[in-house]
Amino acid sequence: MVNRIETRDITSSSKCDQCTSLCCSYITQELDTPRSMQAFDVLLWQVAHKGVHIFKDGNGWYLLCQTQCEFLLPHNRCGIYERRPIICREHSNEACEIDAPINDGCELYFQTYEELDAYCRQRFKTWDKRLEKFEAEQARKH
Ligand code: SF4
Ligand code: SF4
Repeated sequence: MVNRIETRDITSSSKCDQCTSLCCSYITQELDTPRSMQAFDVLLWQVAHKGVHIFKDGNGWYLLCQTQCEFLLPHNRCGIYERRPIICREHSNEACEIDAPINDGCELYFQTYEELDAYCRQRFKTWDKRLEKFEAEQARKH
């Protein structure tokens, strides 16, 4: 999870200087809204990977990967400032990751296999049976 940093006394102009470039330390990718057990089973595989989270906010479902941009310099400066992508240019520090962790305001946030598995068990009555069903189908084929 992105760390919450004490923001008291940090003015907008000095905000980024006080930050460890939290906004350059992860990516997100919008997901198709998962509805079926198969779709959630794929999410379960993804969230089983270290640093991969799944969340749902008012805009939809997203995959989040905690991975630092390779152009982030040791002193938290951008190594390709003049060539940085548009999404970096659009990002404002007015209300950003230093102010609140990303999961603030999310309807759902899963950091681990266990968290998502528990959610799926509540959502689908036959969640645990899907594995037996799959194994039985495989056995029938061979
Ligand atoms: S925009 Fe926000 S998260 Fe990014 S470096 Fe500045 S203060 Fe940190
Ligand atoms: S390109 Fe620069 S501003 Fe964009 S994520 Fe990488 S280090 Fe941050």
